[in-house]
Amino acid sequence: MTTETQLREAITRFGRSLFERGLTPGSSGNLSVRTPDGHILCTPTNVSLGFLDPARLSRLDSEGNWLDGDKPTKEVFLHRAMYRGNPASQAVAHLHSTYSVCLSCQGDRNPEDMLKPMTPYVVMRVGAVAGVPYHRPGDDSLAPEIERLAARYSGIIIGNHGPLVAGKSLKDAVFSIEELEEAAKLEYLMHDRNPQRLDEKEVSELKAQFRFLRGN
Ligand SMILES: [Zn+2]
Repeated sequence: MTTETQLREAITRFGRSLFERGLTPGSSGNLSVRTPDGHILCTPTNVSLGFLDPARLSRLDSEGNWLDGDKPTKEVFLHRAMYRGNPASQAVAHLHSTYSVCLSCQGDRNPEDMLKPMTPYVVMRVGAVAGVPYHRPGDDSLAPEIERLAARYSGIIIGNHGPLVAGKSLKDAVFSIEELEEAAKLEYLMHDRNPQRLDEKEVSELKAQFRFLRGN
């Protein structure tokens, strides 16, 4: 069993790694994880993922009440909606990573399947990716839609904003959002190069073999 102290250190370490590789700028992005006693540990508001203090992470109860640590991110309602939608989710990552943000600004994508994969890895990690329309940052009227989708999707792209990914552990959520970013980068680099994509049979084989959280 992972202790809360280990989870605090893991959030800090993954946050620094994501920030240092340019995967979320400034004070954007947030990470959360369920603790062994049923609380939620998340990154505070207005803090860079690159400079987190493990002792000052925000701790919330299962109802979302702020217990201690610094004030939680304004986007914690997105994380809570992911947990409510799929009780198997143990951690959630949200970034403003450039290529996923590019994808989030393309209005012509199918909201039930935002990516037609070129490589297997996003399918193995995330499965199909859903899309939701733009909402003003902090507008929690988006929560019911996220909760509804989280029952079937572990990856959601928020319009004109960025990706939100749940995982069976913090490491899984982080690796999964990184795979989603890589897939979005390939979309950007290959869009006018006639990419050879995986066909439906290849995608369904992967989904059948690698089912973690998602129902899709
Ligand atoms: Zn955000």
